[in-house]
Amino acid sequence: QLFSAITALNEAFGALGRIHEVLDLPSETDLDVAAPAVLPGMTPDPVSRHQGLSVEFENVTFAYTSAPEILSAGKTSDENDGSVPDSEVGDLQTREVLHGLTFSAPAGKRTAIVGPSGAGKSTVFSLLERFYDPSEGAVRVGGVDIRSLGREQLREKLGYVEQDAPVLAGTLRDNLLLGNPTATDEECVDALASVNLNDVLERDPERLDAQVVDGGVLLSGGERQRLAIARCLLASPPILLLDESSSNLDGLSEQRMRQAIDAVAEGRTLLVIAHRLATVVDADQIIVLDRGRVVGIGTHEQLLDTTALYRSLAAHQLLTN
Ligand code: ATP
Repeated sequence: QLFSAITALNEAFGALGRIHEVLDLPSETDLDVAAPAVLPGMTPDPVSRHQGLSVEFENVTFAYTSAPEILSAGKTSDENDGSVPDSEVGDLQTREVLHGLTFSAPAGKRTAIVGPSGAGKSTVFSLLERFYDPSEGAVRVGGVDIRSLGREQLREKLGYVEQDAPVLAGTLRDNLLLGNPTATDEECVDALASVNLNDVLERDPERLDAQVVDGGVLLSGGERQRLAIARCLLASPPILLLDESSSNLDGLSEQRMRQAIDAVAEGRTLLVIAHRLATVVDADQIIVLDRGRVVGIGTHEQLLDTTALYRSLAAHQLLTN
């Protein structure tokens, strides 16, 4: 028993060392650059903040880089335990997935992004969040190149609601305060009402103190995404990135989701990766992506006339995954 405990401990220390190595790596984008505290078009006054900020992609080209392959073993160098000589390690693999992307999402408007699987929709969001920088071109928020913003400055301008929005193990209040730690109970309840989640408060006598569990029975997938939208309402970022759930919602959930999107879109720039026809019909502008290129920009009606790919996506109800 002692032997196996010592072996387990050794393995744990080894793993811990590797975790530290990863944590010590420099971040993919170095964002610690001094930048103006207030962007043009945005005032520090939280009341007039509700105007949104424009988002622009200008001639953006981007390639993912993956670890080099170990030539003889068909593995990547990440899996090299140190025994493979450098001569056996190939070059970094890069694959260009966005090719000169240009579009702009006007401040305070709704822009939907549609396209087949692999078109580059999520990559557009990743670049906006600066998980990566473009190899060419520029991404601007409120007219400012995001490479000149500090990490915190960028983060406070963007809210992101992901497709399978996770919930925090804790109470409803804990989940909402992630958006804004200083929000009052009244503001939390208002945010829940805005996304049509007030009935969740009635489900448990503990109300805001009710426990929610990730993947638990208390909240359905659509409700989890609406909870994430409520959190964004409390954080009140000028730009919201929403990766709409591609799973089917029943009629009532669909209607509630639309109302939640209406609530969060109010006075904000909304960029949504859309999987629902209703969302694109409501959008001020739709961007159609195909294999890393913009192949159409316009309203639903315009694109039905001009863009064959859009016509076929619309015919399939935009369910592209
Ligand atoms: P989906 O609708 O399936 O989510 P998408 O339009 O969001 O697709 P992206 O996820 O942006 O498309 O992917 C665009 C291309 O980039 C695809 O060919 C994908 O395989 C590739 N890709 C995405 N993420 C990575 C990554 N981390 N490393 C390497 N290639 C990637």
